[in-house]
Amino acid sequence: MNCDITRRGLFQLAGAGALAASAGKLAFADHPDPSTASAGLNLPGTFDGEKYTLPDLPYPADALESAYQKKALRIHHDRHHAGYVKAANKTQAKLAQARKARDFSAIKTLSRDLAFALSGHVLHSLFWLSMKPGGSAMPESFAGAMKKSFGTIDSGKSQFAAASKAVEGSGWGVLAYEPLSRSLVINQLEKHQNLAIISSIPLLVCDVWEHAYYLQYRSDRSGWVKAFMSIANWEFVAKRYALAKQM
Ligand code: FE
Repeated sequence: MNCDITRRGLFQLAGAGALAASAGKLAFADHPDPSTASAGLNLPGTFDGEKYTLPDLPYPADALESAYQKKALRIHHDRHHAGYVKAANKTQAKLAQARKARDFSAIKTLSRDLAFALSGHVLHSLFWLSMKPGGSAMPESFAGAMKKSFGTIDSGKSQFAAASKAVEGSGWGVLAYEPLSRSLVINQLEKHQNLAIISSIPLLVCDVWEHAYYLQYRSDRSGWVKAFMSIANWEFVAKRYALAKQM
């Protein structure tokens, strides 16, 4: 087992904030090569060795037009995702200050803020990579895992879409690798962190917060999820699955 992969993988769980909050400093700060620190499990550009960073979109903003309009995508990435990055760094700074002052009177609020903001950062970083212009065919290497875990590929896709549509309030549909059973699981995250399956490593995520789809789809969340499924990046999912299995 590669300890670096394990450590980075754990950090990128949906509930990563709690782990980060318990660390004495930023989890990647002592990585021998900070430029590659956040490349673990295929999330490059998310941390620069000192602070969390907003990754560039992996395609031009108008490249998903068939399913996701440029304006909606730009606002989502440039304002919302950037907001989570800013909040995660700000909360880390407040936690550092609290440790320095040995004043943990606000620890409950800070812990919640970190879990919310950092999980939002991780999930959005994964979300951009969860989509690909024109969609993609599912690689054989991952198709086998889908069949083993859900019976058929279509059953797994249907469960993922149904879970995404039925998230109560704001949140995410999540397809994840669950290392205890070495199989795939699907869950719903409320907000960015509630109802997390703590052992699981998210592979494909669908943002069903209203800010993700309202501009284009209004209240039609089903229409948005259907469009998302048409551009799902199964090639990326397969690569991330192969990395997750190394844990
Ligand atoms: Fe979002």
